Amino acid sequence: MTKQDITAINQLLETPKKIVIVSHKNPDGDAIGSSLALFHYLTKTNHLATVIVPNDYPDFLKWIPGQDLILKYESQKEESEQILNEADIIFALDFNAFHRTGDMEHVLTDSKALKIMIDHHQQPDDFAKYMYSDVSMSSTCEMVYNFIDMLEDTHIIDINIATAIYVGIMTDTGSFRFRSTTSATHRIIANLIDKGADNTMIHNQVYDTNSYNRLQLLGCALSNLKVIPESRAAYITLSQKELQQFDYKKGDTEGFVNYALSLNNVVLAAIFIEDLQQGIIKISLRSKGDFSVNEMSRAYFQGGGHTNAAGGKSDVNLEETTEKFISILPQYNTALHEA
Ligand code: 5GP
Ligand code: MN
Repeated sequence: MTKQDITAINQLLETPKKIVIVSHKNPDGDAIGSSLALFHYLTKTNHLATVIVPNDYPDFLKWIPGQDLILKYESQKEESEQILNEADIIFALDFNAFHRTGDMEHVLTDSKALKIMIDHHQQPDDFAKYMYSDVSMSSTCEMVYNFIDMLEDTHIIDINIATAIYVGIMTDTGSFRFRSTTSATHRIIANLIDKGADNTMIHNQVYDTNSYNRLQLLGCALSNLKVIPESRAAYITLSQKELQQFDYKKGDTEGFVNYALSLNNVVLAAIFIEDLQQGIIKISLRSKGDFSVNEMSRAYFQGGGHTNAAGGKSDVNLEETTEKFISILPQYNTALHEA
């Protein structure tokens, strides 16, 4: 984002606008946190802002200030489309290609609103008039902080904005441990605490609100864990039947894949989750070091993401999907041993 872009955006935001903030399908902490932070900022600066997400999000995010005002396109289609069609500006947060919004794709493609993208994923599409895209950033939330800073408005950041930004930085950095976590990230976190973000409360709300069933499901996932030592890889499977057995709720499998990656000598981890309703296997890939799961997912699993964290899907059944995964590993063996 250039100085001229910031000047132009500043001019644009001088008068009240109808603004819609959208994020990706199956929104995570960074998607919801960044959207709500920008929502509170724009509302405080006299705009009519609405957050619209493609579908529901996990219960462990349903306490962030303002989340009750979020529209879910899946269940509130008519209202969402009307607001989207009347928007002057659409902010696209935490995604960089319209197809990542699922069924909202066509509404966004047809929209005449001016688009502003704030995102940290690789290979962005070219749909935004103004684009703040930086793959080195820990999270979209960190970028929303920087965006407010570039507009010289950090004095507007209150406890609600600070809390929402904190959530997304915390979740996207694995609680400040991934390589994308920099001293600048920590400085922002320090500023957020000064603005009122309650770090202990936020951590508790997100990570210490497990249901008994979720922990039992984790037990099941861990007993399904398989290791492929020659490829320094490990994977977990969860069938629909197993999910049902433990009364699966959205978000329950969040973070499970990291247990596979935590194994000594494992640099590539995957989780394959059966979704009979959509007729797909949902895949999460994680890696240590330089091994790019973004590239692996783009090449074989219709997805993408970051170097060390990517998602994707498969249209064949659970067993065939794991067989496919195992069969593609040998070509990566050199890279996996160098990672
Ligand atoms: P997760 O495995 O937690 O669903 O996703 C890990 C990362 O990959 C996130 O940054 C997410 O935005 C991205 N991602 C997940 N699924 C997909 C997908 O289907 N396509 C693309 N391009 N990125 C994905
Ligand atoms: Mn993110």
